[in-house]
Amino acid sequence: MAASMACQAVARSLRGASASRLLLNKSKLSRVSSRRWLNLQEYQSKKLMQEGGVAVQRFYVADSAPDALEAAKKLNAKEIVLKAQILAGGRGKGMFDSGLKGGVHLTKDPAVVGELATKMLGYSLTTKQTPKEGVKVKTVMVAEALDITRETYFAILMDRACNGPVMVGSPQGGMDIEEVAASSPELIFKEVIDIFEGVRDDQALRMASNLGFKGPLERQAADQIKRLYDLFLKVDATQVEVNPLGETPEGQVVCFDAKINFDDNAEFRQKAIFAMDDMTESDPTETEAAKYDLKYIGLDGNIACFVNGAGLAMATCDIIDLHGGKPANFLDLGGGVQENQVYQAFKLLTADPKVEAILVNIFGGIVNCAIIANGITKACRELELKVPLVVRLEGTNVQEAKRILSESGLPITAADNLEDAAKKAVASIKK
Ligand code: ADP
Ligand code: MG
Repeated sequence: MAASMACQAVARSLRGASASRLLLNKSKLSRVSSRRWLNLQEYQSKKLMQEGGVAVQRFYVADSAPDALEAAKKLNAKEIVLKAQILAGGRGKGMFDSGLKGGVHLTKDPAVVGELATKMLGYSLTTKQTPKEGVKVKTVMVAEALDITRETYFAILMDRACNGPVMVGSPQGGMDIEEVAASSPELIFKEVIDIFEGVRDDQALRMASNLGFKGPLERQAADQIKRLYDLFLKVDATQVEVNPLGETPEGQVVCFDAKINFDDNAEFRQKAIFAMDDMTESDPTETEAAKYDLKYIGLDGNIACFVNGAGLAMATCDIIDLHGGKPANFLDLGGGVQENQVYQAFKLLTADPKVEAILVNIFGGIVNCAIIANGITKACRELELKVPLVVRLEGTNVQEAKRILSESGLPITAADNLEDAAKKAVASIKK
């Protein structure tokens, strides 16, 4: 079903954001249309944490097996942990296409780090949060391992329902927090943070105690929580997730894993962080689309959907499906669109060899239909469009838009409504 394909695509665009899934289930769809959120690798997030005085273990980063071996020797640690760096979580339980099981390995022998690194680097790691084919590992983190007596879960994220930041924690941390949320919701604790006041002492201590930290560890954990919140604010994060926030036999509270998402709107004041952006894990078309502020999601069919808004994208995919077609993708223009973006959008859609027809479905609220129409005619002429194009426009300035299209003399099929558009797009392929 197209709808489920689209939902998969939505899930894909949300991958790695476990904490958001705990709180924001209802608003998943609204995120399709929002801009991409910057993701950093664990080692980059940990560097920011270190700078913010958060407790993380010593580490080096390597992109070749000899470098990993060298790093392991340099660490001079009792035990070493080797961690594949990909943007998805669940690495511990992941699987490499080299046959190696697990993206996180503990060993006392630096030579083993070298051997394991050869089975990680250049291979794809598949976890619960990656696409089926996995993600190629280009970097590993070589860190000092510590004994962990207890693993808890802690995150701070922006929550729509609370209009601000919320702390989420659970004494059952480690691997799969979604499972804990589903099977024992009573073990998930929340604290709403007043954005003006910040994290109050009593809140930090209550969270620490809910996480199960006892005696002097309670104070230590509360201190880490406050530092994580300071970091959250300082870097304009939308989410800081630590899973596990662990406790060691020596009585230390340590952040063993780190995932930070950032607010793209803060790019102008977080230049150093955004400069770390590693786009190599993203779909190249999605990345290209993002350059023009367009949201592209690839699907499996042959009808390209050119829409404005996530809801309209879903509806368009569904109605194509209903009439026996299959969407090849959807490209969401968003609001406030300019002619050049329309042109770029067409360029992306037509570059996809799967695409056998294009369906434009625009409901102009903020969007001015005439701008879309001008963009479409320019793109059709310059790109010498080879596939059938069905256009349904509605809303602001639609009469002018229709005039532009009909006077263009281009072979554009006009549609009266969405259903008509879907029927015509499907029929144009069957011909
Ligand atoms: P992921 O969440 O992607 O599976 P983690 O960084 O959480 O990756 O690592 C998985 C597990 O490996 C952790 O839950 C923890 O048990 C163990 N681990 C991670 N880092 C260390 C470390 N420095 N020392 C000891 N064990 C660790
Ligand atoms: Mg983890």
